[in-house]
Amino acid sequence: MTNQTLTIGCHLSPSKGYLAMGRDALAIGANTFQFFTRNPRGSRARELDPADMEALRSLMQEHRFGRVVAHAPYTLNACSSTDRTREFALETIADDLRRMEFLPGNFYNFHPGSHTGQGVETGIRQIAAMLNEVITAEQSTTVLLETMAGKGSEVGRSFEEIRAILDLVKLPEKMGVCLDTCHVWDGGYDIVENLDGVLEEFDRIIGLDRLKAIHLNDSMNPRGSHKDRHARIGEGHIGFDALSRVTNHPKLRELPFCLETPNDLDGYADEIRRLRAAYTGGTI
Ligand code: FE
Ligand code: FE
Ligand code: ZN
Repeated sequence: MTNQTLTIGCHLSPSKGYLAMGRDALAIGANTFQFFTRNPRGSRARELDPADMEALRSLMQEHRFGRVVAHAPYTLNACSSTDRTREFALETIADDLRRMEFLPGNFYNFHPGSHTGQGVETGIRQIAAMLNEVITAEQSTTVLLETMAGKGSEVGRSFEEIRAILDLVKLPEKMGVCLDTCHVWDGGYDIVENLDGVLEEFDRIIGLDRLKAIHLNDSMNPRGSHKDRHARIGEGHIGFDALSRVTNHPKLRELPFCLETPNDLDGYADEIRRLRAAYTGGTI
């Protein structure tokens, strides 16, 4: 097996437009990236600018970028006990998916939601119902469910909960999973001592073919803490070596990796450089 280069980038701000994100990515040695589709607190999206999106597409092609990840506002809650909150999540995600067709063939990642006391089964049903309303057979975007740390009443804290949502979606080929290393660690999965075991469990319960992207973060807290506080790579309880084993793992190494660590662009550039230096490209 030979491979190539690590597909890695970080979370970038879309405030200067799409092409500007592509240029920022290039400047820090990234060949993918993630961005919020709108203000992360969930308000209005920018004016749609197809020319800007097209310019990003050509830059990505020219520089052989991997697929990029749009991230829904993290305040959306598709399984809130409040009707209006659920409707708002549905309307926002539907609008984002229409916009994503101007950047076709990429990923749209969202947090499944928090059931706010309704119980996890109701939460799972409401999330799937929302997906069944917004996903179309024509869309080119793959929608990703993010694995969650299990803070409060978060749904998606275990592989079983993710699988239960996927099972209810009518167009499963439009769906995938984004594994967040900080979240699964905080959720109790031992990716430090037993990465192979965790991936076997993922494969058995969800299927590794559904895994489309990785959020690569260290964690400020010990395993199982359910806290969800990201640390810089090598500065948390997961550590650089374990995270480098994630990027090098034969079953993972060709996926896009997105850093969501507390950093400015220089800090991201440094993390990308160190992870690239430790990447063996499948030649082990
Ligand atoms: Fe996220
Ligand atoms: Fe994440
Ligand atoms: Zn997080």
